Amino acid sequence: MKSIDDIEVAGRRVLVRSDLNVPLDKSGSGQITDDGRIRASLPVIKKLADRGARVIVMAHLGRPKGEDFAERATGGPSLRVVAGRLAELLGKPVAFATDLVGQSATSTVAGLADGDVALLENVRFEPAETAKDEAERGRLAAELAKLGDVYVGDGFGVVHRKQASVYDLPRLLPHAAGDLVTAEVAVLRRLTQDPAHPYVVVLGGSKVSDKLGVIGNLLGLADRVLIGGGMAYTFLAALGHEVGTSLLEPDHIESCKEILASAAERGVEIVLPTDIVVAPQFAADAAPTVVAADAIPAGQMGLDIGPESRELFAAKLADARTVFWNGPMGVFEFPAFAAGTRAVAEALTKVDGLTVVGGGDSAAAVRSFGLDESSFGHISTGGGASLEYLEGKTLPGLTALEA
Ligand code: ADP
Ligand code: MG
Repeated sequence: MKSIDDIEVAGRRVLVRSDLNVPLDKSGSGQITDDGRIRASLPVIKKLADRGARVIVMAHLGRPKGEDFAERATGGPSLRVVAGRLAELLGKPVAFATDLVGQSATSTVAGLADGDVALLENVRFEPAETAKDEAERGRLAAELAKLGDVYVGDGFGVVHRKQASVYDLPRLLPHAAGDLVTAEVAVLRRLTQDPAHPYVVVLGGSKVSDKLGVIGNLLGLADRVLIGGGMAYTFLAALGHEVGTSLLEPDHIESCKEILASAAERGVEIVLPTDIVVAPQFAADAAPTVVAADAIPAGQMGLDIGPESRELFAAKLADARTVFWNGPMGVFEFPAFAAGTRAVAEALTKVDGLTVVGGGDSAAAVRSFGLDESSFGHISTGGGASLEYLEGKTLPGLTALEA
């Protein structure tokens, strides 16, 4: 992979794919609740601008739905708020285009002087960005290619996606990897090449189905897998427990059973919560109760791991020499259900070895607790991307940059 230091950028239009998918306030104010990904993307944007490039940033936000650009742009999350934050952090204006490859993008790019920075509207407002159909993606990539002379891939959080701005576009332009992508890959390499043992993987979060697939492969790497968060309930169901109204993916109960069996066979310890903080509804002010993990009452949902599980998980992390953590242990955005995630985060700060936190929400959780980021080995901007890397998959965004 070429680095941005190897390419000529002065006076050229440089299209940078960044990952600016920041969490927004869940109550609907639209405020950015954690700007970690913007900060992580800043060095490359700044470096390119300082070298006299005309920087055109492309990024996505959320998962907009709708038939076409117009429909998605009406209802979906706009990057405008991100442009504002980016400008504040850069200390200079960021031109914002209200479309991706339309009139606004064309004139915004034409108006850039050397050293200027622009941000294009949410790439996912164009359905072709995420289309399965190569030709459809290719057409969008060709439109994007007209806006720039060079491509820089710096959105680590999306390198596992075969999408127009990640995979198809770099094939049409001279390209290089941004420093964030290079740094992330270097850490992940350390996690896969001769890692120190005990090697503990902690998994949580909400995207159960996204993560189940990768656990199978992690069993070949780790000595111990701790499972909390929303995905724990499908595992508890696999053990035959009732989980009330907790997050549950019935279609995946079978795969959980297979994972448990395969772990037992390989001698990998799987640790599930023994107690759960439940509440009658998904709300910040819902009344929390602690129950045993095998006795979740009907009508109650698990929103965090319980106090006994917090101690158990911390104990299972105490002797680790390598830790990879992806996914919060509970709905940490609500203070009443944040203790499990905080306990795991604190346990990681005490580990004598390499600790890596992967995932946008996990990283946001760590920062929201006010823990010193330097007490973690590495805080990755990409959850899904790091999991797929650890799984040994080839990541389309990296393949495209290597070509
Ligand atoms: P990451 O971004 O770190 O990869 P995910 O996106 O997979 O993590 O999951 C993060 C989300 O999971 C958080 O918004 C959190 O509120 C949610 N979550 C965690 N535990 C639960 C639970 N028990 N029920 C519902 N949502 C949960
Ligand atoms: Mg997330």
